[in-house]
Amino acid sequence: MEIETHKVCPICGCKLLADRYDQHMEKQHSPEAELKKLLIQQEIEDMRKQRAIEGEEVVRCEICHIEIKRKNLNKHNYNVHKKKK
Ligand SMILES: [Zn+2]
Ligand SMILES: [Zn+2]
Repeated sequence: MEIETHKVCPICGCKLLADRYDQHMEKQHSPEAELKKLLIQQEIEDMRKQRAIEGEEVVRCEICHIEIKRKNLNKHNYNVHKKKK
């Protein structure tokens, strides 16, 4: 017979083995872990902004709908669609 050994984390809703629960709370939801996660999120956000500034952000051409880097869009419009801005 199987015993229910799972617990659900009240914070992230993760299903966990009961004996991993304390470890999970410590690793994922301790103040240090939350801070670390926040820092990683900020880093990703910064990277995204940086890419947008550099024109590395990928956008979609509104005419042929291919995905293209923003910095190449004007060239693409001119070369492919003969559109001048
Ligand atoms: Zn959790
Ligand atoms: Zn196009």
